[in-house]
Amino acid sequence: MPTAPAPARCSPMSDADDDPIPRDGLREGYWRDTPLTRMSAREWEALCDGCGKCCLNKLEDEESGEVALTRVACRLLDDASCRCAQYEIRHHFVPDCIRLTPATIPEHLYWLPQTCAYRLVHEGRDLFHWHPLISGTPETVHAAGVSVRGLTVPEFEVAEDEWEDHIIEEP
Ligand code: SF4
Ligand code: SF4
Repeated sequence: MPTAPAPARCSPMSDADDDPIPRDGLREGYWRDTPLTRMSAREWEALCDGCGKCCLNKLEDEESGEVALTRVACRLLDDASCRCAQYEIRHHFVPDCIRLTPATIPEHLYWLPQTCAYRLVHEGRDLFHWHPLISGTPETVHAAGVSVRGLTVPEFEVAEDEWEDHIIEEP
């Protein structure tokens, strides 16, 4: 099928050792009654579950618009931690890394992972039990099998015309 790279999206992550995203001190269940547009920066960042799925390259059928997920990961994704290796300065290396905001969620829904917390909250749904904001630990996203840990190949090892050989179902 005629394909073209679909955008990669960036997960809000930092460099802390344990949970890379500070989630302490946030009001329990805030995402259930706070509109995305009214969340503080910390509340917004803490929504990210750290799955890393938005950092996988996608293929988009130019005729149907259908998007296929591949296991070919952005060059900055750390496959073990599912974190961006250079989050703060990532645009120096990956200029098209998308900055998701409440206003841009609708235009990205066609490729955002089904379990992405930004999608879920945008659609008025609750987070899954394995989300770190509910479980209290970032490890549950990996234990639940919904992250990309151990699943990826780096994009510098796979030519773009071979990405089709690496299409996967969303974990
Ligand atoms: S630069 Fe790559 S690894 Fe980093 S957040 Fe963006 S898509 Fe993910
Ligand atoms: S898919 Fe959504 S929840 Fe998962 S890492 Fe990306 S932004 Fe975060």
